[in-house]
Amino acid sequence: MIYVCTKCGYRVEADKQPDLCAMCYAAKHHMIPEKEQPKEQGEAKDKAQSGSLA
Ligand SMILES: [Zn+2]
Repeated sequence: MIYVCTKCGYRVEADKQPDLCAMCYAAKHHMIPEKEQPKEQGEAKDKAQSGSLA
């Protein structure tokens, strides 16, 4: 799994969440799994559905 530092953008591959960012030493909670980053593509579908009801 790829973890990304939300402070400096450093990416590291690891089995579990790193304790520190190797680049900027940000704390563990700044290292987030890359897949968790939200994508906005799903929103268009929701809007189309609710619009058709009105
Ligand atoms: Zn960092």
